[in-house]
Amino acid sequence: MKWKCPKCGREFDKREQEHYCFKPQTIDEYIALQDEKIRPVLEELRAVLRSALPETEERISWSMPTYWKGRNIIHFAAAKKHCAIYPGGEATGVFADELSPYDTSKGTIRFPYDQKLPVKLIRKIARWCYENYAK
Ligand SMILES: [Zn+2]
Repeated sequence: MKWKCPKCGREFDKREQEHYCFKPQTIDEYIALQDEKIRPVLEELRAVLRSALPETEERISWSMPTYWKGRNIIHFAAAKKHCAIYPGGEATGVFADELSPYDTSKGTIRFPYDQKLPVKLIRKIARWCYENYAK
């Protein structure tokens, strides 16, 4: 039985093998390190953000996939049972009504993997972030 490092996803023959955790440098690498089952959802989320934010650059910032234009516009990240977008605390306030079906906290919106992504709403929030944050 191989052991999989929970931090970087690499597999080793020895449990708790000491190693230098590889940190993803690109969104492709980030998604490739996630569980196979959730990769399609992350690819979809990425496609939605990329098409909503054509002016931005994709990069990794704060260890998360990030859309950047002069500053960070929006991040996303994968967790075990959900993926999340991080549009900033102001945005979660502005969209509070539309976000009521979702698990949110200030600046964070979580989407469970067993539900369809609200593509239109994600696009709208991403555009709002761009209009308000881009430099
Ligand atoms: Zn590791």
